[in-house]
Amino acid sequence: MITPYVGDRRTRQIYGPPCAYDGAMTSAVDPPIEVAELLVRDAELLVVDSGWEIPGGWLAVTDGRVTGVGPAGSEPEARTTVRASGRLVTPGLINTHHHIYQNLTRSYAPAVNGSLFDWLTTLYPIWARLDEEGAYVSAYVGMAELLMGGCTTSSDHLYVHPRPHLVDAEIRAARDIGFRFHATRGSMTRSVEDGGLPPRSVTQTEDEVLADSERLIGAYHDPGPGALVRVALAPCSPFSVTRSLMTATAELAERHDVRLHTHLAEDHDEDTYCLETYGCRPVEYFEETGWMSDRSWVAHCIYPNDAELRRLAAAGVGVAHCPSSNMLIGGGTARVREMRELGLPVGIGCDGSASTDHASLWMETRAALLLGRYRGGPGAMTARDALDIATRGSARCLGRDDELGHLRPGACADLVVWDLHEVALAGALSDPVEAWLRCGPARAWTTVVGGRILVDRGEPRLPGLVEALRVHGAVARAMQGRST
Ligand code: ZN
Repeated sequence: MITPYVGDRRTRQIYGPPCAYDGAMTSAVDPPIEVAELLVRDAELLVVDSGWEIPGGWLAVTDGRVTGVGPAGSEPEARTTVRASGRLVTPGLINTHHHIYQNLTRSYAPAVNGSLFDWLTTLYPIWARLDEEGAYVSAYVGMAELLMGGCTTSSDHLYVHPRPHLVDAEIRAARDIGFRFHATRGSMTRSVEDGGLPPRSVTQTEDEVLADSERLIGAYHDPGPGALVRVALAPCSPFSVTRSLMTATAELAERHDVRLHTHLAEDHDEDTYCLETYGCRPVEYFEETGWMSDRSWVAHCIYPNDAELRRLAAAGVGVAHCPSSNMLIGGGTARVREMRELGLPVGIGCDGSASTDHASLWMETRAALLLGRYRGGPGAMTARDALDIATRGSARCLGRDDELGHLRPGACADLVVWDLHEVALAGALSDPVEAWLRCGPARAWTTVVGGRILVDRGEPRLPGLVEALRVHGAVARAMQGRST
């Protein structure tokens, strides 16, 4: 639990527990900054990291990195200044689970009220129409949506490959925007004919999957600090890939030192499927195929039993908590509090646009707050806990908590300025972080990725967005078989 803010905005005092950072909490870092490229100043509250907040604070950026933070009165010179008076500044929110291409079939009426398996089998044939153009515009539009909801880094799990080079198209969109992107090369190899759920039209052979995975790592994975693009490997789920692909993928990830991602323990139907097909429960299957390691993070993880949860924690497996998706699918929800108490890294995920139907990480973070309190009572989750999940926790899931998920000097300059002047926040005077997540809805006022302003005064600075939306509409209509 993060200690609650008990500040009073009139006093401009600093509250909260001491933090691990050994620099001064109230002064600019040493050496002094000459002229910063970007300065965000006069924040109502600057959240530098979980447990480190500076009322009235400033933050300086040069070369894509945070170069200093401090209290009012010690600001450096800067070439560009964002005045954040009356606004909250937080680290950028990080999305650990998404299927961006699904925004082409958002809220698809024939599927919305079925079970997870009904929903999937209705949509698989439509997703089989996905092509490179569709992958590009869905990513471009999806990343614009993420930026407007305060997200600065997202992973994406693209697991249908009816045509080649779809992940390449997503990465091209991320680069065109300047978005920080972890592409995960999804896969499905177990079609209906092989006893799986998806039709043959969206599955591939094991050799095709492994060859393309290796190609994508070689072409795009940047293991270095500050990377804008990384690649991870992501067989879809126990009911859509073969055991041998799970094992071979884990070995490939080890060989190339990339991360592993999959869906795990999302649905009771999955328990039944695993017991009948593999003779064990999903978490046991995960373990047997070589995935039980801190290289892995998994989506949902709703149904592990107590012993399985302890094994996942001991191995350091991360969990992408997807509260809206879980509630919409209507099965169950993850035991986030217990997971965090056991030390599992828990991050936030919006999940696919066709199951969650939105991709605002602010909304997901708020949903995590509501769900945490609904499950565990008023002491179970604070706004700061939820923010910690969406920043620090998510960064741990992606293996990047050294430089993402916080704004300590040296971190990647990924941050969000949130307006507290909104009508919906009138009267919320005592705690900007609780106000930010309890009131709303909130949209990012400014979003900065790697020091670049990509949302400015609430509007995306993306020159290709109008055209991408036009093409997106045409592609979505074609995929859904609609003339209008
Ligand atoms: Zn998913």
